[in-house]
Amino acid sequence: MTANEILRIYGTEYRDMTVRLLQEADLIGEIRKKAGLTGRGPGADNNSIPEDFLIGIKPNLVTPNPAMFGGTTHPEIVEGILSYLLEHGLKKEQLIILEGSWVGDRTEEAFDYCGYFSLAERYGVALKDLQKEKRIDTVSCAGMDLQICSLARELDFLINVPVLKGHCQTKVTCALKNMKGVIPNSEKRRFHRMGLHKPIAHLNAGIRQDFIVIDHICGDPDFEEGGNPLVRNCIMAAEDPVLTDAYTCRILGYEPSEVSYITLAARLGLGSCDLDTLSLRTLEGTIPEEEPQDGVLSGEKEASGQSPETRKLVDIAYAVEEIDSCSACYGTLLPALERLRKEGLLDLLVRKLDGAKIGIGQGYRGRTGLLGVGNCTAGFRNCIRGCPPKEEEIFDALKRFLEA
Ligand code: SF4
Repeated sequence: MTANEILRIYGTEYRDMTVRLLQEADLIGEIRKKAGLTGRGPGADNNSIPEDFLIGIKPNLVTPNPAMFGGTTHPEIVEGILSYLLEHGLKKEQLIILEGSWVGDRTEEAFDYCGYFSLAERYGVALKDLQKEKRIDTVSCAGMDLQICSLARELDFLINVPVLKGHCQTKVTCALKNMKGVIPNSEKRRFHRMGLHKPIAHLNAGIRQDFIVIDHICGDPDFEEGGNPLVRNCIMAAEDPVLTDAYTCRILGYEPSEVSYITLAARLGLGSCDLDTLSLRTLEGTIPEEEPQDGVLSGEKEASGQSPETRKLVDIAYAVEEIDSCSACYGTLLPALERLRKEGLLDLLVRKLDGAKIGIGQGYRGRTGLLGVGNCTAGFRNCIRGCPPKEEEIFDALKRFLEA
């Protein structure tokens, strides 16, 4: 496949669809090229890939919620990748699945609930919890010093397996932002203090993803952690993470120019965000009418399954003022507010706040206010404690605040 191409396949046999996609994309050819070998395709001598050549597979296991909820990577896709690589002569010792969940959840629980412990055991491959990594490098990423887990940088080939979904702060998340899983928790918090967009773009200058397999099966179009899956039953393959994310914008009803980490990554030379150059090709299955059709996308906005008018976020975010909030905190508050809205209590809450907003985020440390969420707002008259607090705790505390 070429850098301006995205291959996709529709269906429900996710493992087999992934294998078919990788065959068409000639993933083994890309690996051989990276290993400095000549000869591609099924006839090539794949065993000549050096035994110490290490391939990392990076899913998105942001929270301990199974993939059907729309926030995490389907293990069947990673299984398809493992099967393909083992069938093409790679040894299980050369393959490693690595991830670090978001601040507030433990990767080990995500490995468990999302089916990755059993998957790794079945295939005999290593599973690495990057939240526990002690070896951290300070890396100059296009002029910005960032902390990155050493293991991620020691890989010879990195296969990124993000979920195409919405994000309550950056609007979308897919290939570029999924790399945040390879930095320590302390650095994730610092990313939020730096406004997210700039460090996400620079991080991708310090760690190169070689191949992308995109889980577009049922990603949540609003929330990174899932909860409202939108079924599309699609898996895609791509090489350019910037173009992948630009296409994610198109799917979710945004323009790439509305997501500054994408345009900044393009300016840093990490790929193209010009959708006029993207060539879409479908291998099998029926393209849902909400999805863009095959071919080169023109400047005209294609069909989108998620129009901005229907986004739940827009309806409720007006009650909140966030400053440098971690995704785990902000992403937990919004569903709690959505529940209040469904019970017809959100307007009551806004009236009770009397012009103030709910404060959330690291920027509120040492500051005062009426109602705050998270330990960072400990100085507020009413603070819903936790780092981050759980959705249920926020919901209950907001109801108590209303009743007081
Ligand atoms: S309380 Fe503060 S540091 Fe903790 S998750 Fe929330 S915003 Fe981040």
